[in-house]
Amino acid sequence: MPDRNAARDTDIGIVDVAAARQRLAGHVRRTPMIEALALSTRHGVPVRLKCEHQQITGSFKARGATNTVLGLSQAQREAGVAAASTGNHGRALAYAAKAAGIRAVICMSSLVPANKVEAVRALGADVRIVGVSQDDAQLEVDRLVRDEGMTNVAPFDMAGTIAGQGTLGLEMIEDAPDTEALLVPLSGGGLLAGVALAAKALNPAVRVIGVTMERGAAMYASLASGRPVEVTEVPSLADSLGGGIGLDNRFTFSMVQRLVDDVVLVSEVEIAEAIRLAYMELGEVIEGAAAVGMAALAAGRIALRGPVGIVLSGRNIDMALHRRIVMGENPDLAGAGHG
Ligand SMILES: *Cc1c(COP(=O)(O)O)cnc(C)c1O
Repeated sequence: MPDRNAARDTDIGIVDVAAARQRLAGHVRRTPMIEALALSTRHGVPVRLKCEHQQITGSFKARGATNTVLGLSQAQREAGVAAASTGNHGRALAYAAKAAGIRAVICMSSLVPANKVEAVRALGADVRIVGVSQDDAQLEVDRLVRDEGMTNVAPFDMAGTIAGQGTLGLEMIEDAPDTEALLVPLSGGGLLAGVALAAKALNPAVRVIGVTMERGAAMYASLASGRPVEVTEVPSLADSLGGGIGLDNRFTFSMVQRLVDDVVLVSEVEIAEAIRLAYMELGEVIEGAAAVGMAALAAGRIALRGPVGIVLSGRNIDMALHRRIVMGENPDLAGAGHG
């Protein structure tokens, strides 16, 4: 019973994921899991894609944010919610707050691409640009919590967030029970921890592999050190994977340490190639963070023993950047639209 152990060690168990699923019904999409026949043929095993880039707000973050918002008390609803976000979590929380009729303040660093800032504003949230890192943005959130009694809805290290993201793991194993390995994008680890918890509760034998970019992979460095460590934030095509895991990490570090079988890294060129592949061969627009699973597969980083499920985690890429990549460029650094 791996789920019981999970509940004891981390305060988050499969019961929380099941509760999240009930709460989320009718509020977020149950996205399709499709077989990518061209990839299955190429790799010799069924390759299936969880189309979470088709989720409301363009990423799976809608699950965790909505789960937490729907679980707030009346007093918490009245004070509103706040978050520091590289974009997709802010967008998801803005959407969830608006749907629930409550106030949202989203704090972002100046590294966040302009298209993501605008998307959050368009959802009616109050956007504040603070500093040059996720940590700077978080200081402003801490102030809002202290001075205005707002609730900080965290992008990954929070029980409601992890349980919400875990619903995606339930759906993947239900839709493809023969899955042998899941490839899941990894940054702060809310997605990976939730998916690993849920998937292994349904099938303890499934391998769950985190994939992240070579540049500034905080969870990877932390796992190697045996404790949460800081890394320098560097612009990447996978901008949604930027940011640290928090030196005071409560849930995701220990859950990833315990539940995840492996973490693999991909390069910027490999991410660009996977974005191109998704568009040219599958007709799907995905962002850099969502492309890492396909990138790891294409680069031969995954030992294949059976059917693979890959999470396409989001579609929120600057379309001018996407066009350049599809035309064959491998944009570097500031080319990713940061600054
Ligand atoms: C946030 C995000 C991730 C990483 O999720 P974590 O829970 O922080 O590991 C991956 N892909 C996309 C598109 C995201 O928005």
